[in-house]
Amino acid sequence: LFSNISSDPPIEVFHLTELFNQDADPSKVNLGIGVYQDENGKTSTLPIIRSVEQQMANDLILTKNYLKATGLDIFCTAGLKLLLGEQSSAIKEKRACSIQSLSGTGALRIGLDFLYRNDYRIGYVSEPTWGNHQSILQTVGFEVRKYRYWNQEKLTLDIDGLINDLESAPEKSIIILHACSHNPTGCDPTHEQWMRISDTCKSRQLVPFFDIAYQGFSSGDLDMDAWSIRYFVHDAKHELFIAQSFAKNFSLYNERIGHLVGVFKSCDIVSKFRTQMTTIIRRNYSNPPVHGAYIVATILNNPILYEEWKTNVRAMYERIHSMRQLFYSKLKQLNISGTWEHIIQQTGMFAYTGLNSRQCQLLIQKHHVYIMSDGRINVCAITLNNVDELVEKFYDVITN
Ligand code: PMP
Repeated sequence: LFSNISSDPPIEVFHLTELFNQDADPSKVNLGIGVYQDENGKTSTLPIIRSVEQQMANDLILTKNYLKATGLDIFCTAGLKLLLGEQSSAIKEKRACSIQSLSGTGALRIGLDFLYRNDYRIGYVSEPTWGNHQSILQTVGFEVRKYRYWNQEKLTLDIDGLINDLESAPEKSIIILHACSHNPTGCDPTHEQWMRISDTCKSRQLVPFFDIAYQGFSSGDLDMDAWSIRYFVHDAKHELFIAQSFAKNFSLYNERIGHLVGVFKSCDIVSKFRTQMTTIIRRNYSNPPVHGAYIVATILNNPILYEEWKTNVRAMYERIHSMRQLFYSKLKQLNISGTWEHIIQQTGMFAYTGLNSRQCQLLIQKHHVYIMSDGRINVCAITLNNVDELVEKFYDVITN
């Protein structure tokens, strides 16, 4: 029955990690996968998570009973506040609805499922973007189009290209936007540029769909990193969707914890939306797991734990930031023609180096440095111990 099935191509970032794991060279470095690493190259569980888990293990009230399809309420309300702010008018007016999801990927999927079943058919992604955006849109059934984002020559945001492409988008197109720490370019619009994007979405009747997987990693400040979303919701009064991941800022990668938020013009839409989401989730996985949701809710709802977690996020941000500065200063010392300024102008976990695919292949094959073929690197994989050797290897592939 199945002897003729075809194989799918490997997913680049996972394939890279497999090759890295198989490599016995002691100098190997994995600059590929977007996972936070400390100065020893470890992705540790945050101590605050461990202590909440210990408390959970002793809590006899916690059961293994099913959650509702839409998830744990104390998690959803806390997540919504983190995103839209304590004073959000959309929350007060009950126009915002939060649905627990299987991390950021799951939020995108169920949100796009909702839009497709309500007759939305065209989805726009930035060029370039995180590869899964296009794949999920296509799998749901959307026609995928791209808006210009990155100017490869100037190594900056192509804001005029972006606006032109949105201006020619058909009404009711879904526009996937990275709220902060754009993946892969690390290049985010300024506040003024966000305002232009917002105006264009409004005048063309486009539907913004924010993806926020790195809140806190762009500026070290959770509120600041949600600025674009809050502007669109409160100032420009858009109806929109948000897919939020807690994988990175809580280091809860394998707990698959995130949420989908819908913000609508009136509260009666929220109740209808919730019924549709219940149907969508019921048919996909029935209801979500509680573990990650309970951890996040416990931390966000307790002022002392919340402060501690904010300090953890700030520390992760600072490490990324300092490694970015260090990498830049070492590259600069090499006197290679061109500029490396873009590395320090970018924010978040990634740097978009500008290396071409041949140079990236060479880094992997000759130097045991695992890097995505578009030149994106995870800045956290740089450490005080490996930076000099890394930079020498970059020099070799650029100059040979
Ligand atoms: N969006 C972007 C832009 C991402 O980079 C990621 C993680 N790589 C995600 C969403 C989703 O991640 P997760 O499903 O692990 O939350």
